[in-house]
Amino acid sequence: MSIEIRRFRSDQSDFAAQMDELLAWEAVSDSGVQEAVTNIVNDVRSRGDEALIEYTNKFDRTSASTMADLELTQEQLQAALDGLDEKQRTALITAADRVRDYHEKQKQDSWQYTEADGTVLGQKVTPMDRVGIYVPGGKAAYPSSVLMNAIPAHVAGVSEIIMVVPTPDGQLNQLVLAAAAAAGVSRVFTVGGAQAVAALAYGTETVPGVDKIVGPGNIFVATAKRMVFGQVGIDMIAGPSEILVVCDGDTDPDWIAMDLFSQAEHDEDAQSILVTMDENFLDQVQASIEKLLPTMEREEIIRKSLSDRGAMILASDKEDALNLINRIAPEHLELSVEDPDSWLPGIRHAGAIFMGRYTAEALGDYCAGPNHVLPTSGTARFSSPLGVYDFQKRSSLVKFSADGASEMGKVASVLARGEFLTAHARSAEYRIKD
Ligand code: NAD
Repeated sequence: MSIEIRRFRSDQSDFAAQMDELLAWEAVSDSGVQEAVTNIVNDVRSRGDEALIEYTNKFDRTSASTMADLELTQEQLQAALDGLDEKQRTALITAADRVRDYHEKQKQDSWQYTEADGTVLGQKVTPMDRVGIYVPGGKAAYPSSVLMNAIPAHVAGVSEIIMVVPTPDGQLNQLVLAAAAAAGVSRVFTVGGAQAVAALAYGTETVPGVDKIVGPGNIFVATAKRMVFGQVGIDMIAGPSEILVVCDGDTDPDWIAMDLFSQAEHDEDAQSILVTMDENFLDQVQASIEKLLPTMEREEIIRKSLSDRGAMILASDKEDALNLINRIAPEHLELSVEDPDSWLPGIRHAGAIFMGRYTAEALGDYCAGPNHVLPTSGTARFSSPLGVYDFQKRSSLVKFSADGASEMGKVASVLARGEFLTAHARSAEYRIKD
């Protein structure tokens, strides 16, 4: 069965408008969801565990009567890790080790310097005390999300990592539990949705309140995270997954088709876009898509994603393609070209850049090392992948010498009097030497 995927040419007069329409996406705008989430969050905030148990039983079809039914022990996590077959355990540990090695490099240290008069200035870096990680579990289980969220927190030195994961019908996923053991998670509660976010943000009798909540989730989770922001920190509001593949026309079209599928299969709203400078290549990839689509387990999701939100774009040249990349600011950018390094200087906005024909984005989802929690919907213009820095905070350090206080006291005095803040001025002036 053929599939219609939109085709654009960047030299068409209405191309800019076509791109605006293609890229339009507003996260967390459904007013019905807003209302439902507000009620859930307020209820969990005021009734704590009791409300958390009720919502979990209702939405995840569980039959918990106390919070003990909704918490897993460290023994359960370790048993899950020990119980994996050899192949799965090796894959999980290999991925965890690579993610840890990569994130170790992101660790920031405190620093300070001393001025000529003995004044010391600096920055003290401190990990957060306690963070919450949301691991989605409604429709599928995501062990890789456990690693990608918990390991950077662990590397940052966070003392307590509280994980929440819904288990519909009480079904525990052993790989998710094993990943929690491998990543050093402190406590796991089998709760999800807006009720889990509220419990982490405000704390209940059993779930400890955290300082920051990270991790992807559906619209109920995203709406709740936005709502509790301010009470706690959050990482980002993630939209549907996206990939932009840029190809010079010399990669096997089957590889490109499968790379486009790899994001499209996430969900119907996911967006896969191909940009090339070779018009014939668009036809080759279209043929590969039609050949391979019927072989996919998630054929219907891929088909809908590609026909509703996908696109194939003909760019006039490399510069034009670079402009397109920066306009789209994709979550995942695959540079399937001969010399990807020569493209790098021109790229300003992308969550993660996968370079060269051998670098399938899928490797980045699991085991390359960099984080797979990335800015979506064009937010790579102003934000970055989840990292160790998301779990560290900075305090400024100031230690004036007597000479330094005297000199800067004069400067502060002038500025404070300009603002009519007399106490500020006099506080500085007391320290000025005669
Ligand atoms: P989820 O854990 O996000 O949501 C499940 C919860 O939603 C349920 O426990 C329930 O409490 C709540 N819910 C469902 N219907 C509700 C209703 N009618 N009213 C109130 N609450 C309701 O799991 P999911 O649904 O499978 O969604 C996971 C999302 O995370 C997907 O969109 C997926 O693409 C995304 N994801 C993103 C990444 C990433 O790195 N960006 C990774 C994995 C998953």
